[in-house]
Order: sequence, then structure tokens, then C-alpha cells
Amino acid sequence: MNNAIFQGRPLKRQRYVIEGIVQGVGFRPFVYQLADRLCLNGWVRNDSRGVTIEVEGSVESLHDFGVSLQKEKPPLAVITNLVSQEIPLENAKSFLISSSGKDLASRVQIAPDSFVCDDCLNELFDPTDRRYLYPFINCTNCGPRYTIVTGIPYDRPLTTMAEFTMCPECLAEYENPRSRRFHAQPNACFKCGPQLSLLDSKGQLMTDDPLTAALNALQQGKIVAIKGIGGYHLAVDATNDDAVLTLRRRKERDEKPFAVMSRDLVAVREFSEVNDDEERLLSTAECPIVLLKKSARPILAEAIAPGNKYFGVMLPYTPLHHLLLSGNLATLVMTSANRTDDPIAYRDSEALNRLATIADMFLVNNRRIETRTEDSIVRMIADKAMITRRSRGFVPRRLMLPTVQKSVLAVGAELKNTVCLTRGENAFLSQHIGDLKNLDVYDAFKQTITHLKHILETEPVSVAHDLHPDYYSSRYARSESSLPCIAVQHHHAHLASCLAEHCVGERVIGVCFDGAGYGSDGHIWGGEFLLGDVKEYQRVGHFRYLPMPGGDLATASPWRMALSCLQDLYSDIPAKNVALRGIPEADWRLVAQATEKGLNAPLTSSCGRLFDAVSALIGLRQHVTFEGQAAIELEMRADPDQKMVYPYELIDDSGQVLFDSRPMLGKIIDEHQAGTTTAAISGRFHATLADMVTTICDHLRTQSGLHTVVLSGGVFQNALLTLLTKGLLTRAGFNVLTHSLVPPNDGGLALGQAVIAGSHLG
Ligand code: ZN
Ligand code: ZN
Ligand code: FE
Repeated sequence: MNNAIFQGRPLKRQRYVIEGIVQGVGFRPFVYQLADRLCLNGWVRNDSRGVTIEVEGSVESLHDFGVSLQKEKPPLAVITNLVSQEIPLENAKSFLISSSGKDLASRVQIAPDSFVCDDCLNELFDPTDRRYLYPFINCTNCGPRYTIVTGIPYDRPLTTMAEFTMCPECLAEYENPRSRRFHAQPNACFKCGPQLSLLDSKGQLMTDDPLTAALNALQQGKIVAIKGIGGYHLAVDATNDDAVLTLRRRKERDEKPFAVMSRDLVAVREFSEVNDDEERLLSTAECPIVLLKKSARPILAEAIAPGNKYFGVMLPYTPLHHLLLSGNLATLVMTSANRTDDPIAYRDSEALNRLATIADMFLVNNRRIETRTEDSIVRMIADKAMITRRSRGFVPRRLMLPTVQKSVLAVGAELKNTVCLTRGENAFLSQHIGDLKNLDVYDAFKQTITHLKHILETEPVSVAHDLHPDYYSSRYARSESSLPCIAVQHHHAHLASCLAEHCVGERVIGVCFDGAGYGSDGHIWGGEFLLGDVKEYQRVGHFRYLPMPGGDLATASPWRMALSCLQDLYSDIPAKNVALRGIPEADWRLVAQATEKGLNAPLTSSCGRLFDAVSALIGLRQHVTFEGQAAIELEMRADPDQKMVYPYELIDDSGQVLFDSRPMLGKIIDEHQAGTTTAAISGRFHATLADMVTTICDHLRTQSGLHTVVLSGGVFQNALLTLLTKGLLTRAGFNVLTHSLVPPNDGGLALGQAVIAGSHLG
């Protein structure tokens, strides 16, 4: 390039400092090609803030450059801040890509892992391409990112690709600014990159054609553990009932649904009622698991999601997935490779050890996974997407906070744990970690904290944790860190998490419904009405307290909550009630006596426990095998068109509103005995809760003048309840905020803790 063509016209030099996800996504070659096209000279460089560009040339070209920079940026790039200023001319004679610099202000954002792009897919299935059928094909527009990063800046030596030396052909692409693979850090091919192998359950190499052998095994109904982007999956043919049942048995997972992966949307339409929004969601770069209504055609094995109206479905997101699904199998069960409650296996040795009794064989590769991430889960509620598990594809994308704050580490809840680290006005919510009571999960929790601090180059000044003194995360905050701790009430954190997601700093009415959260009065909260913002809250209403017979035992056995309700309703417990059927009378009498004396029967205002009780009282569930099962089944059973609202009472308890569900429960028991269907009862129960929320919010609006309502907490994963409540509130003139980018469940809690702590640090 030279400036000859500009002779006689005014020249300018402009500097751009760009922040966002601009490294490892093909930004520099894009800038190079743009400068080339517009005959501009100068340079582009990665640094720890993002990308800096200096360009000089004609005023017109510089103008076009500025416009195209934003408009034509590469698909994975996200610009969050762009500052441009005019600087003195240097009479540059060419345009250069200079190597990564590193300065003090660390602002770089690492991109999430992305699905394989169309260009790479075309090459994958092109017999003349040198990467024909290569399972690890990628380019700057696609491929693994977060899961292979070991440090920053994002450069091959600081990824798990460091151990692979590029062959001359790959290196030429890597160094050519006109190539789609210019500085594609995971660039690889058959000659130089990661390779597949198939191992038997003892870890012995089985064949030199791993892909074909694995496919044959799947077709014969075998269980294959497959190493993916963020961990291992267990795969079986989704149409093979026996294979799915064998997987359930070996995985010791009785009823919790398995996710499936289908070749394409055509295959998805075969077994689900997928609408346009859902098809778009399935096809986004994040490739999440999307909950889709089952169609009437029973194509897939019933055991995949028993008792559920939905399938969790995703599309292939790695080249290997495309290869696996390009043959006879259109849909595979692809469930996280773990035994119940263990974290997903991601190291090869660990996978072989732990899964030896589950998988018949292992389709592995020699690219190390640095960071474990599970598949994300999203469901559409009306026309809005709600993430219920935020992990692969979304992490570590930043979330904008309402204000700039001091750096806080928030350690989250105990179940569905995630952690959150803030930097300036950004929050980085970690991938789903899991249940911290499991020792391996607890180790993963500690690793994640270390890794996040490392890749974000951020040291927090304070640690936020749940008010519950016994959560493992709270104990970690107090014991393993020397930083000052800030304890945050659980439901206040839910409220703040939703406010943070919407970048709202104002005071609102918070409706926070979940299973359990430690209350400031020492009781177990979970049906809460708060007034508050990201700093303070006041509890202004809640579900009337009920004893939880046996404490945590009540969570696993909904009949116990039903018993508590029966005791509360009747002076003589009706022994014939369906909730007690099959429970030895001596047993439940003993539990009832203990409850009456207040022994091992903590008080709770939990909405989740009310769902449990209703489920048992209409004969749906006396015991559950996973968290939330009774509530999910109640939602699945509900007839959404039921308009009738059951009677209930609102009690004024020295200024707080109490929701008294006794009239409703009495009516539910009567209706069930009179033969009303569970579908009708469940539909009316949902309608009643929505009505109650709206009535209470109306009362709170009159008192406080506030008209924005936040719906948060795990109960609002319930699509029907969310839809009904949001509808009624909106009709009553409220501005309603619900979760979308951050889970309403405890997976979003760390974000709320972080903003609350941040606002207290000032
Ligand atoms: Zn690609
Ligand atoms: Zn190569
Ligand atoms: Fe919660």
C-alpha cells in the first residue's frame, strides 16, 4: 500500500482503542483486510485492553473505516467500548499486524466457546479439502476458546493447543492475514493437531478407525463416552429404549431427564413441537440445550424424559458431533458424563476411572480441556428466552453492572453453585459448578475461583457470601480467604441478580420464590415479598410459616410437607389422605408427633415446599429423586386454561402480609377426593398463586408507590407460573422484570451477591 493515490488530498491519522471480545476472534485480520481495501496504512495490535489500531489515509477512507469497523466486524467479536482520536501523521508506508503487547490495564475479554462455522463445515464434508472429516477443524470465526485458555493474552502458548506444533501448511494459514485462520489459536489438521482414539473400558486402544467403530457401537445400542468441548458426554442411540434404560441404570439416575442432540432442525421437528423462536435459539452460536415440547409421535425412547412434557434438545456444535450425526443416527442422547451429583468428567484419566462401569467405550482425543463446562440450558417462556443453566457458550461473557464498583468475589449458593468476579462495571459469572456438598465439585469451585482471578487478572477486595453460615461457599469465604466478607441474604441476592441483569439500580418490589434460603430471622425463607434495590431490602410479606417435618428430609419426601399441611388444617389427621398412602401409619404418626413438639421441624415460608405439598396431596409425588421434581411434574400436569382461583387469605402480621394457603389446600383436598382431575387442580393452583402475587403487589404499590416488580428465584423457572403472573401484573399496570441472561435459580445468586457487596463498598 502507498499513499500515492492520495496526493494532493488531506491526510489524517486516527487511533482506535477497542475493548470487548476482540481477541482470538479474527479481529486483527479483519482490520488488516479492511485497511487494505481502503488503502490505509498504519498498524493493529492486541494488548491487554483489547485491540489498538492506528490508521492514516484520506478523510473519506478513514470515515469508511470507522463505519465498517463496527458494521462488518467478525461474527464472534463483541465491541463494548470504542474510543477514537486524531493523532499526528507518521507517514506510514504499509499496514502491519504487530504482535501482542501487554500493558498494565487488563481489560481483555475471552470469548466463549463457539459452534463450528459454516465455512469450516463445508470444508469438513468436502472430499477435496485437506481437512476432510477432520474432527477438530476450526478457524478464527469458530471453535473452542474459554475451555482451552490457560492464561491471557489469548495466544496459542497460553492454550491447551500449546503442545501441538503446527505443520507448515497450518502455520502458513496462521501467519497469513488474508486467511480465515490467521491467528486462529486452535488451528490444526490431521498432520499436526489433536487426534481421536477409541478406548475400551479398561483404557486399551481398540481400533485405528475410532470414528467408524464408535458409530457402529452406537448403532448397536452401546454406551459411548465422548470427549467434547467442556467435558465428556455419555451417548446412546436416542431411539433405542433398551440402550437408554441401560444408561439410566448404570448412571444410577432414575428419572432426571437426559438431553439429546439432533443432526439438524428437520430431525428435531420429528419428535418435538418446535416454534420459530425455539429454532432460532437452537441455532445460535451458543448452541444451548433448549427445552422443547414433545410431539405426539413417540420416535424417541420414553425413558429419556419420563413424566416430562419436554425434551432437552441441542444441535451439534463441534465438528465431531457433526461427524457422529452425519450417518444413520439422527438423534443421540448426550448427557453429561457423571454419576448423579458428581461434576462432569473432563480429564481423561478421571473419565476412564469414573465412567468405567457406565460406558462401553471411550471416544477420546489428546486436546486437553482446561476448564470444565457443561451444556447450557434455555427455555422459551412466551417470546422470551430464559437461561436456567448458564455455562458453555455463554461463559465468560461479561454482564454489565448498573455502576462501576470495587472488585468483589461472590461465592454463590450451595446447590447449582456458580461464582462471580467483578471488574469495574463488569461482572463475570462463572460456568455452572454444581452441588458443593460433593467434594469433587467443591474442588472445582476452588479451581474456578483461581482460574477466573487469573484470566481476568483481577484480585477482589472483598468476598460476598450467603447469609447461611453452613453453606460450603460461606465457609470458604470465612476460612479460606483473608479478605473482608459480606454476608448477603439469599432472597435479596435473587432480587439483586435480576436487577443487575437488567442494569436497574432503582427500588422495586421483589417477588422471590424458591425452595429454601436462610432468613435473617433464622427460619427457612422461600416465598418472599421484598422492597429493595441493589443495596438494601426490607421484607414486607411472605408465605405463612409451616413446620418442615424432618428438615432436609422433607425436601426429598413431599409427603412430609403434605403431612405438615394436614396437621395445620385438621385437628385429626385424615389417615386416608392420598399423600400418606403406603407410608406406614406408625411412621407418619411419629413424624407428626415430633413436628407438633417442634422437634427437627424448622419453620419455612418456602413456595417450593408448597408445590411439594400440593403434589403429594393430589397423589402425584410422595418421594422425589432430584431437586424440584415434584414441582416440575405439577407444572407438567397443569391445564394452563384453568381460570378458577382457589380461596386464600392475606393476613396482616404487624405490617407484613402473610399468604395463608389453608383455604386453598382445604379446597384442593376436597376437589381431589371428589374426582377433579390433577390437571384442573394443578392449573387452578398456578392461577391462584398468580392471583395472590398480583393482589399483594397491588397492596405494596399502594403503600410504597413502587410499580416495578422483579420475579426471581428457582420457582420462576416454572413457565406457566411465570407466564400467568407476568400477564396479570402487566395487566394491572406493573413493569415486570424477569430473568433471561442469568438463571432465576441459585445459579444466578452469585451475581446478586456481588452487586450488593459492591454497593456496600461504595
Ligand atoms: Zn470456522
Ligand atoms: Zn496442520
Ligand atoms: Fe434460591
